[in-house]
Amino acid sequence: GELERQLQGLRFLPEVADAAFLQRDASPLAEVRFRQDMPMQDTSGSAGEGHPAWWRLLLDRTGQQTAECLAPIRRKAEEADPALLRDEGESIGSVRIGLNVSAFRQDMARSLRLALGTSLAIVAVGMWFTLGMTRRIIAPMRSLAVAARKMALGQIRPVDIHFDDAEIRELSESFNSMSERLAASRADMETYHETLVQMAYYDELTGLANRALLRDHIDLALAQASRHQSSMALLFLDLDRFKNINDSLGHSMGDRLLKGVAERLRACIRCGDTVARMGGDEFVVVLNDLSRGAEQAVAESGRVAEKIGQVLASPFRIQDHEITATFSIGIALCPRDGENGEELIKQADAAMYSAKALGRNNYQFYTPEMGSQGIHRLTLESDLRRALERDEFELYFQPQFSRYSRRVVGAEALIRWRQRDGSLHCPKEFIALAEETGLILPLGEWVLNAACTIKSDWSARGICPPEFEHIAINVSPQQFWSPNFANKVLEIIAKSGLDHAGGLEMELTENCLMRHTDEVMDTFSTLKEAGVRFAVDDFGTGYSSLHYLKKFPLDGLKIDQSFVRDCTKDPGDDAIIRAIIAMADGLGLKVIAEGVERQGQVDFLLSHGCKYFQGFGFGVPVSAKVFEQTYLLQPSPG
Ligand code: C2E
Ligand code: CA
Ligand code: CA
Repeated sequence: GELERQLQGLRFLPEVADAAFLQRDASPLAEVRFRQDMPMQDTSGSAGEGHPAWWRLLLDRTGQQTAECLAPIRRKAEEADPALLRDEGESIGSVRIGLNVSAFRQDMARSLRLALGTSLAIVAVGMWFTLGMTRRIIAPMRSLAVAARKMALGQIRPVDIHFDDAEIRELSESFNSMSERLAASRADMETYHETLVQMAYYDELTGLANRALLRDHIDLALAQASRHQSSMALLFLDLDRFKNINDSLGHSMGDRLLKGVAERLRACIRCGDTVARMGGDEFVVVLNDLSRGAEQAVAESGRVAEKIGQVLASPFRIQDHEITATFSIGIALCPRDGENGEELIKQADAAMYSAKALGRNNYQFYTPEMGSQGIHRLTLESDLRRALERDEFELYFQPQFSRYSRRVVGAEALIRWRQRDGSLHCPKEFIALAEETGLILPLGEWVLNAACTIKSDWSARGICPPEFEHIAINVSPQQFWSPNFANKVLEIIAKSGLDHAGGLEMELTENCLMRHTDEVMDTFSTLKEAGVRFAVDDFGTGYSSLHYLKKFPLDGLKIDQSFVRDCTKDPGDDAIIRAIIAMADGLGLKVIAEGVERQGQVDFLLSHGCKYFQGFGFGVPVSAKVFEQTYLLQPSPG
């Protein structure tokens, strides 16, 4: 309506020229024809040297020639140089201004014939006329053309033309109002365009790139790697135990966790790299421009994987919950592992599964042997189920020693899986999968049963020395959080004939203690009242917050093996161990050091006041029979 009215204003110009504003699909936004006596530079086709690229000469069916100026409307890009008329940015439409050349030429010819037919004086008048034309028409039209160009580039500014001619002034006024209209519709178009792009290429929940954009970015990264003679890495990330969080805390909490994770992920990559969400709790990170050499590329991408682990280390505070997320990460490298995007994703995925199988919260590089592991994983799950039915599990026991008595004060029960072919599997090969599939519940119940039965048997036979206090079992968070857990435990204790629940210690990891719901607190206090003891396993590896130490009345801490390993060499580990022992003393907690292998470590720990020890240096995990023989029937000093 308004635009059309403005365009009508151009009508008064004699004869034919037209201006059209086209949308992206070339349908006209507005069109008007008007005559303009303007000399044309005789350019045709596209960019001639020194000429605006967007003039072209058109010949229509009636033989009429039109000079047309077509300029793309670009999304507001960098400052464009109108003099160079560079085409930059992405086109979202175009603006066209056309002049009827034949009519214009006829006019010129008529004028010239007139001019030639007269005397020198008339020539002078002719010259005056031409000069006048230049002044009146060409210069202002040029300004308009530049303005049209600017308008097309989105740098719309009113055209300011200082000529007396009323026609030109009106023309420029119409132009200005058209440009305003165009600016408005351009803004609409841009918003619309942006929405479309957002929907097509970005994940709705996290705002990260989606699969479609990821594919583009992978292709770009691959091209760049081959051009720059560099490597690129594809990291496949999968949140550990996300299903657990979703099931126990609800989907909206799950969504918020995903958002938080996405934010932290985004913060730990360089610009130019990509983080995308594949869906669910799976993310992909693409690292560009790594060193060419495979070894360096491995080191560089490994560092990023470690950094990702670090940024996730502190728990997320969502409503009243503290949730910790860890990733299992698989890494594939181009060109080392392949140069095809699809293939790299598959390889990184396979490597991610192997990271899960190795106990989660770690990263693994793809190796060709991993190719078939997807299948392995599936069979492992059904094998595990069958193993439960066939009773293929066994408990091993590792002694725990006291500094004073130098006697065995307890044993940690560690599960083993002995398959019918005689192969013996360690928990790291199957616990993660059992947790993921929920099989940990029946498996954990089996462990509890077996541990209580064995302990009550030892007690009944009177072979437990007085210092031998407990059997410790490992309890997974899923178990601990499962409904009715406390009652089930008490039932099992009663059934096994265990004289008192104090003979049982539960080792809980720090993330187990991060949940403070009423049910969890109830579970804890019920068991605690019954006499069950609690120790924090792998202490120091899970959380930055120690809040839970106050919430849960615990009995002991187990200093994680990773601190013990280098405690005599690494001043950092030294400091951590001192701090843990001092803190535990203050809280009245018993401290036990895990993974003690060498005399040097024992001396160091003793000198810092650690009172209990467990590790290969004192005794490896052995079957119940062997444990009985070695530590109970013929107790030997550690
Ligand atoms: P954890 O609870 O930290 O158990 C200690 C692990 O360290 C055991 O590995 C033990 O064999 C090993 N270890 C003990 N002393 C030393 C040492 O001096 N040096 C070294 N390098 N290692 C030592 P294992 O038996 O393979 O168990 C691995 C993990 O599997 C356990 O770590 C625990 O988290 C889990 N796990 C074991 N049994 C069960 C179970 O019945 N239920 C659940 N939920 N998890 C279990
Ligand atoms: Ca343990
Ligand atoms: Ca441990």
